Amino acid sequence: MRAPPDTVDSRNWHRTRVLVLNATFQVLCEAPAERAVALVAIGAAESVVDHEPRVPIRSQHAEIALPVTIRLFEYVYVPHAVTVTDSARATYAGVFRRDRHSCAYCADRAATTIDHVVPRSRGGANSWANLVACCGPCNQRKADRTPEEAGMALLWEPKVPNHIEKAQQRIWRRLAAI
Ligand SMILES: [Zn+2]
Repeated sequence: MRAPPDTVDSRNWHRTRVLVLNATFQVLCEAPAERAVALVAIGAAESVVDHEPRVPIRSQHAEIALPVTIRLFEYVYVPHAVTVTDSARATYAGVFRRDRHSCAYCADRAATTIDHVVPRSRGGANSWANLVACCGPCNQRKADRTPEEAGMALLWEPKVPNHIEKAQQRIWRRLAAI
C-alpha cells in the first residue's frame, strides 16, 4: 500500500483513502478513494466532509468533489465490526500486541516504548506502518532520526495487523457489491 501523497490534486487523488461511515454515522472503514467516489457517483453514499482545498473529480456525467468522509445511505451490516473501528487509527497498545512486546530494532530486549519509524517531527504518521515497539536503549540511540540515518535496520516491516486487514477486506468486498 503506497503512502498518501503530501499534496492531493486531480492527478493523484486516487492514492488517498476515505473514511466510510455507515448510515448510522458509525465508522465502518477506510476505503480507497476510487471506491468511495464511485459510491457517491452511483448515489449509494453522500459526502459528509469534502477534501480541503477542493479537489474536483470529473467522471463522464458529473463532477464530484473528493471527499475525506462519506456516509452510506443504506445500513450495511458487518459482523465483527468492532475490530474494524481499530483500523482507522493505530493504538500504542495495538502496536505492542502486534510486535509481541519485542523491540523492532534489536529483538533482544523487551519493548517498553513506541518508536515512530519516520519521526513525528518529520511528519511521520501515527499509523500501523510507522509505529513499532522499541526498547528504551534503541529508542534513545535512534532519537530523532530515520532508521537509515541512525544506521538501524527494522527487523520486520510494520504493517496493519492481519485480523484488521482481513476485516477491512471483508468490508471492501461488501462495499464493492453495492
Ligand atoms: Zn532494542
